[in-house]
Amino acid sequence: MPRAYVAFGGNVGDARDTIRRAIDAFCDGAHVTLLARSSDYRTPPWGVTDQAPFINACIAVETRLAPRDLLVRAQEVERSFGRDRQRETRWGPRTLDIDILSYGDAVIDDPMLTLPHPRLFERAFVLVPLVEIAPDATIGGRSLREALERVDRTGIEKLA
Ligand code: AMP
Repeated sequence: MPRAYVAFGGNVGDARDTIRRAIDAFCDGAHVTLLARSSDYRTPPWGVTDQAPFINACIAVETRLAPRDLLVRAQEVERSFGRDRQRETRWGPRTLDIDILSYGDAVIDDPMLTLPHPRLFERAFVLVPLVEIAPDATIGGRSLREALERVDRTGIEKLA
């Protein structure tokens, strides 16, 4: 079964609780099976910096769903946790953001679903939790650990 890496983040309300419940909802054990989960990390806001810090975490899953169906499932979970894209600003506060980082070796160049995720290698808030669960992995032929060495990890804090 294909393996996918998926990132969760949020900074509105009790984001740790939201992410914990969202991972439970996303990984139902039938279509999507949880293989590994990172710690939660408190991370500085990115893009729009005048907002609350984010909580971020990554998971590894096995899935029977096709890549686009996995994205649809992620968006359903976002909506069920109260996310309303119509009322958000880009990079602004959000209850829950779920990104598909990679899906097997799939390469998809479509604005609705781009794989591997185009900003994965720039973002310490994704790479830090991802390297925790997949230290030796490569995505698109690139080493995650090497990518992590090149980004600024300032302010990222692992939570107990
Ligand atoms: P965001 O507001 O950052 O969650 O961006 C969501 C938008 O990015 C949605 O319209 C998705 O269809 C699109 N998108 C493209 N590639 C991906 C991906 N790998 N994971 C999640 N969303 C994606």
